[in-house]
Amino acid sequence: MIQARRHPFLFAAAVVPALALGCSAAEREAERPWALTEEARQEVTEPELEGRIFTALDAAAKAGTDPSISKYHVRAATVVSHDGVDHTVVGGNTEWAGYPEAIHGETSLLNHVINLIGPEAAREEVDFLAFYTDRACGTGGSCGDCRDYLMTTTRWRDLLIVCGSGADHSVHVRRFAPWVVPETDFPEVTPEDTGLPAAQLEELVATALEARAGGVALFTAAAEHLGVAALTTQGNVYRAAGADDAAFHYRYPVGAVLQQAAAHSDYFVAAIVVATAPGHTPRVSYRDRQYGYEASSFNQKRGHEPTLLILIEESTDGASRRLRRTTFEEALPGAFSTASFMPEAVDRFLDQRAQPE
Ligand SMILES: [Zn+2]
Repeated sequence: MIQARRHPFLFAAAVVPALALGCSAAEREAERPWALTEEARQEVTEPELEGRIFTALDAAAKAGTDPSISKYHVRAATVVSHDGVDHTVVGGNTEWAGYPEAIHGETSLLNHVINLIGPEAAREEVDFLAFYTDRACGTGGSCGDCRDYLMTTTRWRDLLIVCGSGADHSVHVRRFAPWVVPETDFPEVTPEDTGLPAAQLEELVATALEARAGGVALFTAAAEHLGVAALTTQGNVYRAAGADDAAFHYRYPVGAVLQQAAAHSDYFVAAIVVATAPGHTPRVSYRDRQYGYEASSFNQKRGHEPTLLILIEESTDGASRRLRRTTFEEALPGAFSTASFMPEAVDRFLDQRAQPE
């Protein structure tokens, strides 16, 4: 259970004006119609936290957004206490035309909290992110990139994710932590248990290690610099490595290798093998997991197995290695892809573009 702090003034501030104006109980209820679901009550037991959540939902409902491409509004808010004052902070998604790019509601909101109270206080004070929707609340999680950012900027092990539905005023609360799967939780496997023929596995491992020797790592720590190899169902092997730059527009290696395969209309990827510095477990960012999940959703559209994600852990002296094996579906729980939003469009796209099988 989250350790909620006491905010005696929050409730006083919320209630006193209503009493002063002589509002009836029904009118107060109409002003603040939110109701936690039974499940949400398991996570939110402190009236003070409930009050902050409802205040945030009221603010999120009015947050400005600009989803010019998707038309999908992500309206977010939180309430943090800093220097004895409660601050309501909002965020929202904005998209820009040309290339389908966006600032997401989660990153927008946390950025605004940091702007207001600084990064250390943000990490300490943000207990929840509240999202307002005028539809029913869904069950999906944040995208991979937002997970990376929230894991850096919040106490994510305690973080609550709230959805308030304007349709029925129900408030749903879940934990962020189940959307995180550490690489060391990926099952360790023998080469035989990867599901790949020995010679093919060896080629992929050698290719990933070679790729890691390249790339661009001017700002990236050695343990974070990755080389990857991808095997497609057509039997082709592609490689890529991480690349950073002065604008910090990192080129993610899994995304890069998938882009290369796609440039050959080779869309169905059987396996991705990832290598990092000896003595370390490769850390696959959640953004890269998102790219892999999207690719695997193409596989599933055409009846192929999910794309395998295989990690190489070399010993410090490079003399021995261990392997870990999972899928992007396992590595990114609660993920979404274009195939879930626009299944017919993905079918049409693959019909037109994919190499004949
Ligand atoms: Zn996101």
